Amino acid sequence: MQIVIASGKGGVGKSTVTASLLYLLKDEYRLIAVDADAEAPNLGLLLGVTEWEEEREHVGAKIARINTETCIRCGICQMRCPYECIYVDDEGNYVVNELTCEGCNVCGLVCPVPGTITLEQVRSGVIRKATTKYGFPIISAQLDVGRPESGKLVTEEKEWAKQIMKEQNLEHMIVDSAAGIGCQVIASVGGADVAILIAEPTPASLSDVQRVYKVVQHFHEPAYLIINKADINPGFTGLKEWAEQEGIPILGEIPYDSAIPKSMSMLRPFIEAFPESKASQAIREIAEVIKQEIIK
Ligand code: SF4
Ligand code: SF4
Repeated sequence: MQIVIASGKGGVGKSTVTASLLYLLKDEYRLIAVDADAEAPNLGLLLGVTEWEEEREHVGAKIARINTETCIRCGICQMRCPYECIYVDDEGNYVVNELTCEGCNVCGLVCPVPGTITLEQVRSGVIRKATTKYGFPIISAQLDVGRPESGKLVTEEKEWAKQIMKEQNLEHMIVDSAAGIGCQVIASVGGADVAILIAEPTPASLSDVQRVYKVVQHFHEPAYLIINKADINPGFTGLKEWAEQEGIPILGEIPYDSAIPKSMSMLRPFIEAFPESKASQAIREIAEVIKQEIIK
């Protein structure tokens, strides 16, 4: 089974909750964790991973290169680049900004000197594998600065995770998705069997979880909700009302607990670092509901 954990909004505690859920489920199920937040991967850190066993480069992004030997400095490419990523350097050469180039090849099409602008494939990121100290493997993607293709990177890491599941006879993939509703999130949610949404009771979190729920609906996946920091805004009822309206079952509520930031600084799941904390009691109950309602 493939379970994706998504929130829409960043900072609501998605990865910390995911780390503790993995910790609670690891003894009963054969799991693999996938950190699909390629721009800010930190699930590995929260699970105490300090060394990666294997790395695979993802090459696929394209950027333009200008041959200064044949360039006649007409400036057409600079005028036509839709992303404004061609500039003139101190020597008067037309140069492509590699960090912002989208590889669309408009410059190559408008350049009057054939062969002066070429598209070159470059690395867009890396996918890494480790075995956590808890015994289950983790796959994590990391996008290089300024590179596109975060969605392809996540798709590739999920393919690698599937291959490992086959090799090691694992049962469940738990995917920690990125914030937002961009390519990474679409690649994370696509192909999942179930989505667990995490939100806090604030208008911003509600708005973002509603957006990511649309992605989940697009893939016709059943969704469940965990309310994190459930007591920070007692007067706000919008999140629960929305869940009820959409028919999204609430798996449980985790109260705000200072044990969570403390455990993050210790690079340990809060359930392990502070097992008697209020948050740990809540996540234990949520894990039981997940076992009964989702994994079965
Ligand atoms: S490939 Fe596209 S984005 Fe890159 S420099 Fe050329 S026109 Fe600009
Ligand atoms: S369009 Fe071609 S020839 Fe003109 S400045 Fe750009 S690279 Fe040089």
